[in-house]
Formats: sequence, C-alpha cells, structure tokens
Amino acid sequence: MRILSIDEAKQISRGKTTVIITGVTGQDGSLMADYLLKNTSYELFGGARRLSVANHENIEHLANENRFHCINFDLTDAHSIEKVISQLKPDYFINFAAQSFVKSSWDFPAQTWDTNTKGIIHILESIHLHSRYCRFYNAGSSEEFGNVEYAPQDEKHPLRPRSPYGASKAAARQLVKVYRDSYGLYAIQGWLFNHEGTRRGDEFVTRKITKAVARIQQEFKFGIKRITPVELGNLNVKRDWSDAEDCVDAVWRMLNQEQYNKNFTTYRPYPMCDLKEYVVASGESHTIKEFVEEAFLIAGFKGHWEGEGEDEKYIWDSLSYPDDILVQVNPSFYRPAEIEDLRGNTKSIMYDLGWNPKTSFKELVKKMVLKDIS
Ligand code: GDP
Repeated sequence: MRILSIDEAKQISRGKTTVIITGVTGQDGSLMADYLLKNTSYELFGGARRLSVANHENIEHLANENRFHCINFDLTDAHSIEKVISQLKPDYFINFAAQSFVKSSWDFPAQTWDTNTKGIIHILESIHLHSRYCRFYNAGSSEEFGNVEYAPQDEKHPLRPRSPYGASKAAARQLVKVYRDSYGLYAIQGWLFNHEGTRRGDEFVTRKITKAVARIQQEFKFGIKRITPVELGNLNVKRDWSDAEDCVDAVWRMLNQEQYNKNFTTYRPYPMCDLKEYVVASGESHTIKEFVEEAFLIAGFKGHWEGEGEDEKYIWDSLSYPDDILVQVNPSFYRPAEIEDLRGNTKSIMYDLGWNPKTSFKELVKKMVLKDIS
C-alpha cells in the first residue's frame, strides 16, 4: 500500500471530515477502518510506523478504497505527531497504536511506557495546540483494573495494574482526563476487555490456540503419526473475550455520545463535561481451558484434562491415538504477575449508548477456528 506524504494527505483532507486511525495494520485499527468506510462518508488516514518489512495483511483489501489512505508517523516521535495533527487538523483521532502485548511489557517496560503513555502526551498536546475540536479516543484496557477488588468490573473499579502494560494504560487514562478537564477536549479512553477475531495477532492466547488447532487438524489429515502439542502457560486464568468487530462499534459510539445518549447535555466553557468513559466487554468470563476445549471441539477433537500445574495436559479421546497430547504446559509462558479473573460490567454503555455485543463466546471461537482451518 502506498504511503502518502503529509502534503499529499493535507490536499486530500482539505474540506472533508477527516479521521486518523493509528495502528491501522493491527486488528482494531483495520476493523475500525472497515467500520467507518461502511458507516460514514469520512476520509480516513491510517497511521502506521515505517518498518523495513511492513505487514499490511489486515489492510490489503483496502488498497483500492479511494477514501482510505496510509500515512507514516510514530507515537514515540513528538514531531511526527505534531506535523500530522497540525497539517491535517483531523476531526477524529482514534489511537489503537500501542505496545499491546502484556507479557512483552516486562521485557520492554520503557518502550511500553514511551509508546503507551508518553505517546499520548504527544497526541493530546498536539490536539490542544492545533486541532482543538478533534475528538480523541485512546485505547484503554481491563489490564488497568489489575488486582481486581470485585466482579464484574465496572467504570468505578479502582485502577490497580499488575503489569507495566496495565500501568502505562492507567497513567495514560489520567493524562486523557487531565486534558479533558483542563482544556475541555473531547478526549476519552474506554476500558476494552480482551477482544479477539480473525485478525488477532499470533502472540495472543486465543489466536495461538486456534492456529494450533488448525495445524493439528492438518497433521492428522495428512497422516502424521505423532501430534505436536501446543504449549501454553497459565490455563486457569479467566478472561472476558468479545468480538473485536463489536468493540469498534462501541468505540465509535463513545466518540459520538450526543448522537446515542438522549440525556447528554453540553455546557460551556467545558463543552464536553458530560463525556463518559465506558467498559466494553461481553459480561462473561471463561478459562483458557474452556477456550481450548471449545476450539478443539469445533475441529472434531474431543479431549480430557489430566495432571496438575506444570504437568497438566489435554489428551485426545481417540481410540486410534490414545496417548496423543493436544495441549501441554510450558512455564516459560507464565507471567511474573497474573490477573486471575477479568469480567466486565457493561450496563452503562448498554443503557447510555445502546451498545450490545452481537457475538457469543462460542460463535467467536468458531469463527476463529474455521478461518484458521480455511
Ligand atoms: P492479555 O489478557 O491482553 O494479556 O491477552 P493474552 O491473550 O496474551 O493472555 C490472556 C491470558 O492467557 C493471560 O492471563 C495469559 O497468562 C494466559 N495464557 C496462558 N497461556 C498463554 C500463552 O501461551 N500465550 C499467551 N499470550 N497467554 C497465555
């Protein structure tokens, strides 16, 4: 996909309602682009970092879309952000760019902070200086709740992060609030719980499992005698997984609250003082084991669990392959600190903005497994 210069992008954006989506090559950014192409007539600029080997798989289908364009900038480079915002003067800036892998945040805590927190200062400052009426959404996370006090977690739950990633997002949330309160910016950060789909990165546990299921099914089909099991970390943690396609709809509703919320009022000098930030989740939580069972079942493998802790295994109930292990534990996938159970309370967003998740847990797993098999 061709990357436009800022001057070219400026020409195209002139006089049009302009949306910048960062992290557009990732799951959420690319789904947001699809959603806005379908539901609005706005001009979209997808921001991606310049990489020597760029992965544009999630946006390849947009190559001939005349309302979608790619530009380059980097959240860790304040100048590149300021240039883009001062020149394009966007109406919406939706930030999905992040160091988003929780486990890596222990290996790269400073880089996580620079991107997820300092990067947000660059955006907020540039919006404040150059595009005051731009609506800003920053991707927040259930990881901010961390060491949870109660379940399901709602918007009032304290921020008690357990990872450098969670801490970086919790700090970014405070900054977004400070800029909102200080300057009256339309700046918000939703709490998205885990959200998955067929564009999910391989490093996340759901996609790792569904890809492994597809591989194991192929191995079996081609008569490979011994299945290579998938190795996972903590199998007993619970996560609230929803469909990322449902989540981008929630983000757009949060960015246009007055259109969805009849009780929304605006005041001056802080025109957006009624703005709210919402929890976005499915409201159900499932263990990693339940995800494993469901995913293998869809591919025709029924199994049972044996052993405990590091010796726990998921064994295929097959007459011809009685000892075949489908899943085993590898402690190198354990995290230095874990959040045992995350489950979101979505009452507020359902009531205020009329949002409802459309895809169930089973439908989500099925969609991912079938895509990987195909
Ligand atoms: P996260 O909740 O944003 O960190 O999303 P992940 O999909 O990376 O992890 C979800 C949960 O799965 C975490 O509690 C992990 O500890 C657990 N998990 C267990 N085994 C694995 C594994 O092999 N890879 C990953 N990524 N997570 C695993």
